[in-house]
Amino acid sequence: MPARRGKLEFPWADTPSPGEAREVAPGILWARLPLPFRLNHVNVWLLRENDGWTVVDTGCATTEIVAAWQALLSGPMGGRPVRRVVATHGHVDHIGLSGWMVSRFDAEYVGTFAEWIWARVSHMHDVPGSNAAHHSYLVRNGFDDAAAADLVKSRRRFIDLSSPVPGSITEIRDGDSIRMAGRDWRVIVTRGHAFEHASFHNPESGLLIAGDHLLPTISPVIAVYEMTPKSDPLEDFLASFPQFDDVADDTLVLPSHGSPYHGIRTRIEELREHHRRRLDATAEYLRQPRSAVELAKAMFPHIEGPDNIGFALGETLAHINHLVRKDIVADVSDIAGAAIFRTLAT
Ligand SMILES: [Zn+2]
Repeated sequence: MPARRGKLEFPWADTPSPGEAREVAPGILWARLPLPFRLNHVNVWLLRENDGWTVVDTGCATTEIVAAWQALLSGPMGGRPVRRVVATHGHVDHIGLSGWMVSRFDAEYVGTFAEWIWARVSHMHDVPGSNAAHHSYLVRNGFDDAAAADLVKSRRRFIDLSSPVPGSITEIRDGDSIRMAGRDWRVIVTRGHAFEHASFHNPESGLLIAGDHLLPTISPVIAVYEMTPKSDPLEDFLASFPQFDDVADDTLVLPSHGSPYHGIRTRIEELREHHRRRLDATAEYLRQPRSAVELAKAMFPHIEGPDNIGFALGETLAHINHLVRKDIVADVSDIAGAAIFRTLAT
């Protein structure tokens, strides 16, 4: 029975269990894998081909997810091989198990170039300079040395959630066409949540595989990270919405978290409004000069644990950097090493 939330409509009120798959369109199965985070699941899509399967995303490398895949492969996937692994983007909950899958089936690995490179440098220990860059980013934004060292160490755990990222790729770019499950899908590459996130649109069937870019119930993480500390990913995210202008409102959107939904136009408007409110709140809070960490703690008062404060900092900085670009907020610190932001008088 369909469920509604606001103006969005969800054709399935319940979700498949690990190891089960549900057909959401002819030849396209929805499976849900358990994640070891507060965000406790990720969706993957299984597309039936003449000679096996294309899988879109794989989850990360945990024993629970490997077990779920074994059940899927021998159950709903009928023991037929995975021929292609397609990555929406390089975050570990999406591509962590792709190396395992690709080597197990000698499958083709398909994705955007930036996400593949990003995953290769983010999911490897001892990449030269990466810990130092992360540490100085954290100190610059208001953590003391000890807290920064803990956070750097804590994030290294994410690396262990990835099997080795495949060593070569079949590259896809914005506007390309890719054939999956007997349909031609247009590749839509967006920035904001990731550097080159890929969505896949098939207008004839009214389907959009949306990855993390347009999630139904949570706002996709739009965050600044230490590799690009002055970036403005929020501008990129907001600027991406016109790329979906020709996606009809009755399209079934297949997101990586949450359930498939109808109502893409409404959802885009909700996401615009969410960030408009966050930007207003950020400018209001920064009437008092603060570091980004102080602001993150004020904006996310219930946050706990080092990983979550790390994400909160990244999201807060995305809003700060956007306001700095627009000359609404400035870095007013006069000491080298720590940034203090303040809203400029108008
Ligand atoms: Zn993601």
